[in-house]
Amino acid sequence: MKIHTIGGFNEVGKNMTVIELQDDAIILDSGLYLPAVVELQEAEQEQTAYTEKRLRGIGALPDDLLLDKLGIRNKVRAILIGHAHLDHVGAIPYMSYRYNAPLVGTPFTIEVLNRILEDEKIRLPNQIHTIKPDGTFTIRGKNRNYQAEFINITHSTLQTSMLAIHTPEGVVAYANDFKLDDNPVMGSPPNYNAMKRIAKEGIKALIVDSLYSASERKTPSEKVARALLEEVMLTVKNENSAMFIATFSSHIARLKSIVDFSKKLDRDVFFIGRSLNKYVSAARKINMCPFQNQIRMGSYKKQVASILKKVEKNRANSLVVCTGHQGEPGSIMDRLSKGALPFQFRHNDNIIFASKTIPAPVNIANKEQMDKRLKKAGVRIFDEVHVSGHAGREDLRDLLELMKPQNVIPSHGATHQLTPMVELCRELGYRAGKECHLMQDGQTLELKK
Ligand SMILES: [Zn+2]
Repeated sequence: MKIHTIGGFNEVGKNMTVIELQDDAIILDSGLYLPAVVELQEAEQEQTAYTEKRLRGIGALPDDLLLDKLGIRNKVRAILIGHAHLDHVGAIPYMSYRYNAPLVGTPFTIEVLNRILEDEKIRLPNQIHTIKPDGTFTIRGKNRNYQAEFINITHSTLQTSMLAIHTPEGVVAYANDFKLDDNPVMGSPPNYNAMKRIAKEGIKALIVDSLYSASERKTPSEKVARALLEEVMLTVKNENSAMFIATFSSHIARLKSIVDFSKKLDRDVFFIGRSLNKYVSAARKINMCPFQNQIRMGSYKKQVASILKKVEKNRANSLVVCTGHQGEPGSIMDRLSKGALPFQFRHNDNIIFASKTIPAPVNIANKEQMDKRLKKAGVRIFDEVHVSGHAGREDLRDLLELMKPQNVIPSHGATHQLTPMVELCRELGYRAGKECHLMQDGQTLELKK
């Protein structure tokens, strides 16, 4: 078989890998490179519709034209999507029409995809299939079929899967992204039994999220993030202050913890911002939004203004969850910091970032400037009330020892972020270039039978 590493091997973003097996090819993920999109938004000030051509022009899409060059575009039989983050699903609306192949994901991932398609007014010709966590999809190849398992694994959004494609040459496993969290607040712990079972069958290759392979630790569980939030929300003096929290819109478990503690504070909870609306309504649609009756939601301009006016009058009894944890231009927190919305921060108001700034220059600069503007009003900022959704080095060690893949392909980062995974593999007996393969975007790895 051949493995084409299309995107996500030189950067954090635009994830895409292709498995080629004689007459058939299978695409795993098609994501956006988000820093490029953020820069585009800034240049344009207001949002306009994106097109494939513009997104390709700024390097926001994985360069799948390689498949045309290799003459395998027409061999693609399925596009499997591992989870609902935009760096894995976000390019689907602009690229998938090029393939005569179904799109397959878990219910949450597909709901999020449907909402993006609606927002962007895009209709795709591809069939769309939903597979429950731990379910299996049959890929119809030219002369044979393949079973693709969506093994439940933990990450920072709902219904994340480790993909396991059963081929005559062994299983190809795709754990991009994941962490090993036995207490994920929502959803089930990783399905270790399924991993052991496919390990027994024989894993030909493991493509694995190695972003934090240099961090010598086990990534803490989401229950730790919940405890951090509890500390900041319930033990800090805040009874006369306004409270605003910005976090990842796709992190439904994190949002649940926020709502739970808001209720203990006896504050009414308001969610404002378009992307929050997108992910929360997707969760509601699949019955995975336990707090749906405890929040009020606003995403359109008028709704946002009317909610904020209400909050201004009831500052001490309200809590606002909003977009803008990365200081994104046009997000709610960004506009609040610029005085562009009908709410004024005051001395000692609490602003909690249940997030971490993504280490791309554009994010760092945006967040710093926003913080500076917010601090002028004398607010208290609580930053990094957060744990990561990506495995640390010791999770990666456990995963390799559990799954014992023949070949390892580190993914989800630039070369300097993936190199520590090569070192870890060496410790475990994988030789660099023989069984552990440090790949770049646009390369092909051939694995002999
Ligand atoms: Zn992710």
